Amino acid sequence: MVKCPNCKKELTKPKKTWTYGLFKVQAYSCDNCGTDFREYTKAGKHSFTLKLKKGKGYVRA
Ligand SMILES: [Zn+2]
Repeated sequence: MVKCPNCKKELTKPKKTWTYGLFKVQAYSCDNCGTDFREYTKAGKHSFTLKLKKGKGYVRA
């Protein structure tokens, strides 16, 4: 279970999942506010979150 970094709505299903080096990446699209963000997990632990900012690409949430 993750929370949208923008509106805090809890989301259950990632839109897409892949691995990036040592990280497991889960991409979400908030169905409440439309924010796109990515959760990075390393060795089963949450590492950081990136969210998509218009015109800036992905930045730290
Ligand atoms: Zn949201």
